[in-house]
Amino acid sequence: MSIQQIRLFGDPVLTTPASAVTTFDKELRVLVADLTETMLDAPGAGLAAPQIGVPLRVFVWDVDETLGHLINPTLDLSEEMQDGEEGCLSFPEIRYDTPRAMRVVAKGFNMHGDPVTIEGTEFLARALQHENDHLNGILFIDKLTKSNRKLAMKEIRESDWFAQAAQSGIEIQIKDSPHSMFGRNI
Ligand code: ZN
Repeated sequence: MSIQQIRLFGDPVLTTPASAVTTFDKELRVLVADLTETMLDAPGAGLAAPQIGVPLRVFVWDVDETLGHLINPTLDLSEEMQDGEEGCLSFPEIRYDTPRAMRVVAKGFNMHGDPVTIEGTEFLARALQHENDHLNGILFIDKLTKSNRKLAMKEIRESDWFAQAAQSGIEIQIKDSPHSMFGRNI
């Protein structure tokens, strides 16, 4: 297991749809372990494989003191929506109100290839939607209202991490400061 570098906005891997996992082998179990370790180190409440540069349909979460992972997920969303602030480990310090479905039923597989169903409401539902979007190359800024997206893009362009990444062409890892569950990025 090892902590991996978290890719930041601007890296094309974040906007590329990921491929389905076809082999449930040791390599996959190492990927789940690396994702979990990297998420806990950040610290974050969720992390998807493309965020560490691996274009596979795998994500992990740490919500309500419960660690989880899901492979090749499909999501069913409630019509009822929730409001709330959201951030992403690939966008240090950027947080905006992001509308999401209130409840989610996520179906997929665990790392051993067994089918699993995860039901989530509120923050778990938000995290599952956020991570699942990462697998489709969709980012939380894509879910914002038009005016908030404009503000977010301005904030991103003015951020040190984005300027440095653009200038040097290298990825920069910035750690989020530890705070409450709802302040943690996904
Ligand atoms: Zn994210």
